[in-house]
Parts: sequence; structure tokens; C-alpha cells
Amino acid sequence: MTQQPDPEPAICSARGCSAPATWALRWNNPRLHTPERRKTWLACDQHRAHLTDFLTARNFLREVVPFDPTAPLDER
Ligand SMILES: [Zn+2]
Repeated sequence: MTQQPDPEPAICSARGCSAPATWALRWNNPRLHTPERRKTWLACDQHRAHLTDFLTARNFLREVVPFDPTAPLDER
């Protein structure tokens, strides 16, 4: 019997949202992370601005890229 790994559901990181992710927000908290480290939040079209604003206000946001479901997921 072959055990299939359970794929991480690629859904929006906004609270209560279960829409498929279309954007990846790559961020870094300099107080917790080394400069080259990246955390990733996923966002749907509807929540991209909200999550981007949240990270930008804290100076955490590094880049926003279209979410590629075939790319390996970074830690969140
Ligand atoms: Zn969402």
C-alpha cells in the first residue's frame, strides 16, 4: 500500500478565508529571522491588499509574487 503524502492545501492565509491562493507574500521579521530567511503567506485576490498592508505597516514585506502551486512551499 502506497501512502500518499497529504499535500498542504494552498489556500489564502487570511483568517476565515478558504479561497485558493493566487499570491505569495514573502516576508521577513528582522527581529526573529536572519535577513535571507523568508516566510510566506498565501493570499487570494480578495485578501492580497489586506495582508500586504499588514506586512508593509510592520516593514516585514519583501516581495509579492504570483502563487505557483507547482513550486515547493516555503515555511509559513
Ligand atoms: Zn482570502
